Amino acid sequence: MKGVNRDVARIIKPRPTIEGAGVRLKRAFPLPDLDYLDPFLLLDHFGSENPEDYLAGFPLHPHRGIETVTYVLAGVVRHEDTLGNAGVIGAGDVQWMTSGRGIMHEEMPGPVGGRMMGFQLWVNLPARLKMTSPGYQEIPSHIIPLVTRESSSVRVIAGELEGVVGPVKGIAANPLYLDISMPEGASYSQPIQRDHTAFAYVFEGEADFAGPSGHPGTRVSSPALVVLGDGDFLSVRAHSGPARLILVAGKPLHEPIARYGPFVMNTREEILQALEDLRTGRFVVPG
Ligand code: MN
Repeated sequence: MKGVNRDVARIIKPRPTIEGAGVRLKRAFPLPDLDYLDPFLLLDHFGSENPEDYLAGFPLHPHRGIETVTYVLAGVVRHEDTLGNAGVIGAGDVQWMTSGRGIMHEEMPGPVGGRMMGFQLWVNLPARLKMTSPGYQEIPSHIIPLVTRESSSVRVIAGELEGVVGPVKGIAANPLYLDISMPEGASYSQPIQRDHTAFAYVFEGEADFAGPSGHPGTRVSSPALVVLGDGDFLSVRAHSGPARLILVAGKPLHEPIARYGPFVMNTREEILQALEDLRTGRFVVPG
């Protein structure tokens, strides 16, 4: 592949975290040593065989200034929001929610055969879109293209792989979101737009990430977040068994960040305004 390989910049082990009404999950960021990866603000990996870890769910809560992206790999998430959307997303489905100026929603995980697994990613909105109208894309599994390359299979959720374009559209960060499954020994290379922030999250097996040419790679055992350095492509290989990872990239905003729980704005004043709007019932604007 032409250009410069993206080396491993950092490896972060996700930390057990309790979120929502008592959901036990693994948080890749924010953590004390990694606040965000512009334009990405949060990555949670939820997964358990024990319903007590997640059944409390995420009862009705607000968001402003961001997008929340839920990718379910096992189990279901029942959701309902102030835009009037309600439904169930299940294994392989994605929900890409643009909160804009304000949305209230609930997200309640439910097991299938006791198992629940998936990811939530937060994507920042640029200042000019923080107060845009809220929107929502529900992407059922069957419209997500599956590309088989050599022996690896890749689900293209957002962005492009060899001319195959993912179904998520119109997102300011111009994101790439791939779910890459590699059998033992398989290698995989993926172009990533230069100057876009990129990370991988290895959630099954072990993977070797290529180093700069002529240097040995870095072995990463799941679960782990791998922050990628600058360059043109990622090159990775499954080690000692199958490996699976998500690969996410997007255009950084380089804007100030003021965050408070589910609100992420540019200034503290805007956070105070969000709290005030919530208190006075002006948070969710009809229409
Ligand atoms: Mn939420």
